[in-house]
Amino acid sequence: MTSARPAGDMSGALALVRKVVELRAQVKAWRGAGARIGLVPTMGALHDGHLSLVEIARRHAERVVVSVFVNPRQFAPTEDFARYPRQEAEDAAKLAEARADLMFAPTGSEMYPPGFCTEVQVGGPARGLCADTRPHFFTGVATVVTKLLLQCLPDVAVFGEKDYQQLLVIRRMARDLDIPVEILGAPIVREADGLAMSSRNAYLAAAERQTAARLNQVLAEAAAAAAAVRAPEDLAGIAAQAADALRTAGFRKVDYVEIRDAETLDPVSALGRPARILAAAWLGETRLIDNMAIPAR
Ligand code: AMP
Repeated sequence: MTSARPAGDMSGALALVRKVVELRAQVKAWRGAGARIGLVPTMGALHDGHLSLVEIARRHAERVVVSVFVNPRQFAPTEDFARYPRQEAEDAAKLAEARADLMFAPTGSEMYPPGFCTEVQVGGPARGLCADTRPHFFTGVATVVTKLLLQCLPDVAVFGEKDYQQLLVIRRMARDLDIPVEILGAPIVREADGLAMSSRNAYLAAAERQTAARLNQVLAEAAAAAAAVRAPEDLAGIAAQAADALRTAGFRKVDYVEIRDAETLDPVSALGRPARILAAAWLGETRLIDNMAIPAR
């Protein structure tokens, strides 16, 4: 473990750890001193959305671990694993500033040693939406998050509503596998024009960046319209109109716009339960996702 402070010093520098055994040793020492542990899993290229998760973790735990690992298992061979932004030094500086305690940045072979052959298969909320176009995705996420939870054994782990389907999948998975952790959801942090912050926004050319802001606007308009319908059958038309509006705005392809039950992600069969509108759409070679709550009537 490299650290700007001597072992046992509780003064607040960020430790950088690459080995699971070192992570476990530090967490054990903190736990022995009576601290609760919070975990924030990320793929790095950190922005204010990630840092808001650190802040929430700090409210629930005395010690906060942030993992930074670009997980190859959640990318298909055609996807952006190779060009995904990696900026570890900047990430470490931001985490120190945000007063995280430990950055866990394992290598690929530390996470997936030779012979690795175990996967976590998830159902329920992992069906449909993003899984329709990224069938490998939630298995990859569930596998790495299970490993991170078991490596760190935190009391709480924080995930953003930005990846709403992922949040529900992880909540369900932790419950189904009896992983002793509380999963906390964090609100979406947005840019001034409403675009949800994302490490992938860095891919956008200037003109695409302008168009990108339409995604949250279109969803907000659709969410307002959805709040006023009289029957669940009317929701499909609202979602279809929103998809058309995205294509008109310049999105090259719309993977989906759907209005779903906010707790199960099942299709909405009755009004009155919490509902959510979710979308994924492409600007050039960049796939953006966003979602928001349907306001209660
Ligand atoms: P990522 O690095 O994209 O895998 O994201 C790591 C965590 O940060 C996930 O739980 C995301 O949902 C969360 N996150 C990413 N962007 C945002 C955002 N704009 N607001 C809130 N949480 C976010």
